[in-house]
Amino acid sequence: MILDGKQIAQTIRAEIREQISTMSAKGLRAPKLAIVIVGNNPASETYVANKMKACAEVGVEALKIAYDAGISENTLLSEVHRLNNDPSIDGFIVQLPLPDHINESTILSAIDYRKDVDGLTPANVGRTVQGLPSIVSATPRGIRELLARYQISTEGKHVVVIGRSNIVGKPIAMLLMQRPYLSLPGMSAASLGDATVTICHSKTRDLKAICLTADIIIVAAGCPNLLTADMVRDGVVVIDVGINRIDDPAAPRGYRLVGDVDFEHVAPKASYITPVPGGVGPMTIVSLLQNTLQAYNLKSDI
Ligand code: NAD
Repeated sequence: MILDGKQIAQTIRAEIREQISTMSAKGLRAPKLAIVIVGNNPASETYVANKMKACAEVGVEALKIAYDAGISENTLLSEVHRLNNDPSIDGFIVQLPLPDHINESTILSAIDYRKDVDGLTPANVGRTVQGLPSIVSATPRGIRELLARYQISTEGKHVVVIGRSNIVGKPIAMLLMQRPYLSLPGMSAASLGDATVTICHSKTRDLKAICLTADIIIVAAGCPNLLTADMVRDGVVVIDVGINRIDDPAAPRGYRLVGDVDFEHVAPKASYITPVPGGVGPMTIVSLLQNTLQAYNLKSDI
């Protein structure tokens, strides 16, 4: 069965739109997200445009704050402090990557974790690790939501995560191995989390043998066809996070997007599998909206 991230994301967007219009009917202001972008990296420009569009669709107010690539680290830090202290801004993100002369870690660490809707500050990551209420970064949040919406329990399951990045591999592993403390729509809190998690990476020996013991495989490596049919058991659940461009002269743009999984041959063995595109990607964008609403609603609680 296909895990249809596009469809689920659409449902969640409608839910958010509904919540915001109910708030507005009560005279409450809309949630407001600021997006700081430095320089003119075309990929970043596209991501920011997509985020602004997604906000507009659900009624989240979005403010783009653009800086020249030559901005100093100190000036950017001052901007972060200003946004931390601006009560009209519920959450903000600093679009990565930043130019080389700016230390990303210094900037991210300065963001107030209650406004950190990307969930990347050490404070939010630390809170997630300790099982405290936190804002979870968008892709892991989206994966968790996708599993929940399809009622796929992780309790007692062996989850293999391929990839150890700060934005996907590490946080999703942490969330799924934790004692559950969150309840998500349509699923009892007890069903998510409580997994036995193995994290694999580029130096892992015999990835195939490990994958063959998995109930759920989450692949976030950025390698097309990394997970092949001989590496999975029948009935496995596969979440493909990878986004890779493959040259394809027949495609309108000269390339097409593929994930990290040999979808054609793995899908027949899987009980559930995400397509690329249309799986985790749409869930990631909608998670940013959910995080913004979370920051708006729970300002004093997190
Ligand atoms: P990354 O690119 O920072 O690192 C890749 C990870 O994969 C590393 O930890 C590395 O050890 C591991 N790896 C690489 N080759 C491997 C191999 N052959 N065997 C085992 N492990 C291997 O990770 P990232 O930023 O999480 O991105 C991973 C992929 O996910 C990329 O394709 C990226 O574009 C995509 N991504 C998609 C979304 C989304 O919304 N769908 C969000 C974030 C990232």
